[in-house]
Parts: sequence; structure tokens; C-alpha cells
Amino acid sequence: MSLPDGTPAFHAFLYADPAAHSLSPRMHRAAFAHAGLNGTYDALRVAPADLPGAVEALRRPGVLGANLSLPHKEAALPLLDSLSRAARAVGAVNTIVHRDGQLHGDNTDSPGLRDALYDAGYIWEEGAEVIVLGAGGAARAAVHALNCGGQNVTVVNRTLERAQAIAADWHAPDAHFQVTALPAHAAPWESAALVVNASSAGLNDPDQTPLDATFLTRLPARTLVYDMVYKPAETRLMREARAAGLNAENGLGMLAHQARLAFRAWTGADVPVSVFLNALTDLTDPGPAPAGSA
Ligand code: NAP
Repeated sequence: MSLPDGTPAFHAFLYADPAAHSLSPRMHRAAFAHAGLNGTYDALRVAPADLPGAVEALRRPGVLGANLSLPHKEAALPLLDSLSRAARAVGAVNTIVHRDGQLHGDNTDSPGLRDALYDAGYIWEEGAEVIVLGAGGAARAAVHALNCGGQNVTVVNRTLERAQAIAADWHAPDAHFQVTALPAHAAPWESAALVVNASSAGLNDPDQTPLDATFLTRLPARTLVYDMVYKPAETRLMREARAAGLNAENGLGMLAHQARLAFRAWTGADVPVSVFLNALTDLTDPGPAPAGSA
């Protein structure tokens, strides 16, 4: 679908709680401007009890859809008419697409991470060992992206039982590639090609890290450490990874790509990721980003 130029405004929203510090409005407003479309994007604080009504309101004419952030990504699933494979596999929706009164749930965090890893130079060697830190919704999206990309995933989390729950739930599309859960000391550090921090450790705290730095020294020199956290721009995990001679990237690329993919699903316009990234360059004013904020 492509939206016609010069038409009355189209509307998209972020539903989150809290929502005030979201970076999504600046990205999507820049994308509307770049695409020459008369569109609006507003971040709305929606309390959990109000989510069903807010989702229902997306069926109105002129509404393109919405992004969902904490705490709504899982709760929205039963409110929608259809789901993508990614949304069903991850168990979370971050993008709702409205078409003619029908609401379709998708998850662009997973392909957003995939595309950000390509941009960061990660080489998707079939059967490579990768380690995901965390066991929330972001970790599930990472497991989906990586395992569907032919990687063997080890999930490491502060609360091991939650990592084990991901491994137990996981229905690999290709059974050759595994998803396992291990305590940190038993993870395959010596052979890992990639470590993804999908925990919220380090968010708004430059001194916090999900990982003892001694584990980083066990990684091969080529390993990429991808931190989904993007505030601060260099987390302690990234600092310590670079000090250990590893490559490290923050989560801005993933944030931009998940927004690009949502915008394309709503409008049909393939706006370059640089437009979304440029909209994020001035990160000085918004204050602390809430966990899971997009
Ligand atoms: P979540 O559901 O709240 O999960 C948080 C996870 O972090 C849990 O596994 C938790 O462990 C772990 N954790 C929290 N504090 C920790 C600490 N001090 N040390 C070790 N582990 C800790 O959150 P989420 O929605 O999955 O999001 C996780 C992170 O990803 C957030 O920082 C979010 O902003 C980021 N994210 C970024 C993007 C992007 O586009 N860049 C997209 C989505 C999410 P327990 O299970 O032990 O509590």
C-alpha cells in the first residue's frame, strides 16, 4: 500500500505507560516529512486498563496504526484480528497496522535487530554460537531474530528460570539450531561470535552492567557486543567490551530499524534508516528513557 500525497492527515500513535520520554515521535515525524506525507505521530500514555479501548480506537478511518511499548506488548495480542509469524513466535506486538477496520499485530523489534546487526558488520555464519543476556520481551525478540538467522542461541539471565522458560517455549523453525539457557559461567564464551544485551541493565545508569567483565575477556577478538540499551550512548558493557578488544555497538540502530519497518508497514514508504537515525542525533533533552521505551 502507498498513501496518496496531499490527502488529509493520517495518524499513528505510540501507546505506552509512561510515554512522555519516547523517541518515536521524532523519528516518525521526520519520516512523514521525508516521504512528503501529511501524517501525525503522537505518544500517548495509556494505562493497562485502558488498552482495550485505545486499541479499538485504531479502527477509525485515517488511523494507520500504533506502536506499543511497555507494558502493552504482550497484553495486546488477544485484542487483534491477526498476527504475523514474528509476533506469534516472540509473543509480543510492537506494531499494530490498521487496514479497513482490521488490526494486524507485528513485531518489528526482531527484524530491527537483524538489520542493525547487518549494519554493525555482523557476519551471519550458519550455526554460529551467540549469547543473549536477559529474558524479557526484548530477549525473546533477539532469540527469534538470531535463531531464525541460523544461530545457536544461549540465553543467560539474572533469573535463570526465566531464561529456561524461553528455551522451553521455543519452537525453532529449523531444529538444527538450538536455543538453550545456561548460567553465565557455563555459557560458550570462548566460541561466541556475538553477545546481545537484551536486559535493561545499564539503562540510564553508566555504572551498571549485566555481565562481569571477566566473561568478556573469554570472548574471541572478533566478537561483536551489541547492547540494545542506547542511553547512555556508551554503556559500561560497551566500555568494558572495547577495553577487552571487542567490537561494541549501542541499540540506536535497532531502534531506528524497528521504526523504519513499522513506518513501511503503515504507509508503504521505504524511508532510509538514516532519516530515523538523524532524528535521534539530538538526544540531549528528553531525560531518562523508561525501560522498554521505543
Ligand atoms: P523487561 O521485560 O523488563 O526485561 C528486563 C530484563 O533485564 C530481565 O531479564 C531482567 O532480569 C534483566 N535485568 C534487569 N536489571 C538487571 C540487572 N541489573 N542485571 C542483570 N539483568 C537485569 O524489559 P524488555 O522489554 O525485555 O527490555 C530490555 C531492554 O531492551 C531495555 O533496556 C529496553 O530499553 C531495551 N530495548 C531496546 C530496543 C531497541 O530498539 N534498541 C527495543 C526493545 C527493548 P530478571 O529476569 O532477573 O528480572
